[in-house]
Amino acid sequence: MAPVELSRPLRIVYLYPDALNLYGDGGNVIALERRCAWRGIPVRVDEVRMGESLDLTDTDIVMMGGGSDRDQLAVAHELLAQKDKVASYVEDGGSLLAICGSYQLLGRSYYMGEDRIEGLGVIAAETVRGSDRLIGNVAVKTDLAPEPFVGFENHGGRTLLDAEATPLGTSVITGTGNNGDDGFEGLIYKGVIGTYLHGPALPKNPELADWLIAHALERRGDAQATALLPLTPLDDTYEHAAHDAAMKLLP
Ligand code: GLN
Repeated sequence: MAPVELSRPLRIVYLYPDALNLYGDGGNVIALERRCAWRGIPVRVDEVRMGESLDLTDTDIVMMGGGSDRDQLAVAHELLAQKDKVASYVEDGGSLLAICGSYQLLGRSYYMGEDRIEGLGVIAAETVRGSDRLIGNVAVKTDLAPEPFVGFENHGGRTLLDAEATPLGTSVITGTGNNGDDGFEGLIYKGVIGTYLHGPALPKNPELADWLIAHALERRGDAQATALLPLTPLDDTYEHAAHDAAMKLLP
């Protein structure tokens, strides 16, 4: 597709690929980048690694994957020290995809063993401990797409949304989602999507990728960005085939 004009390229920040990249979560960044490029939208990806300074000005989409408890704790320390940057980005409506451990980290707190770890507190949720791990393929109904979103979950924590929070998955069809009790999966707040869907989630749930891109362009607010909305549909034959293959894995 012919390149389109934007005041500056859409900037995707991939946070901590060196710590948070379970089950191919980094594939979400590739999906976002490709779906912009296929539409001729200028796009740039910046990886921010542990110890590097975080600058979220001129950032349109942030992606954070899941990680082991040890890596998640290191990231918690890294981000708690610069919590205000993340909080301002979220409150300003920045698009942010947070998978599993990162989703937990955005809430008020989560547990590592017996220890309660303070989270960033930028979403209305907290994560408590459970006795066993919640592992398996998952499908959830959402308001974002006609077909359920699919993925793979593996988490010990149970995430509880505050009453006013909006879940991403309004009903879990297969698997456990946030906690296995209330039928919810993930959360949507402003431009933030928190979810337990690993796999990675975006290549086989392209509507979720496009939601993040569209939200980012809307936030830009200028005429060039707004002219790209609604997003040009893409040929999602392969994405739908991947989605259908994941659906066939469901018990
Ligand atoms: N350590 C967290 C848990 O098990 C998150 C794991 C993950 O990101 N998959 O609850």
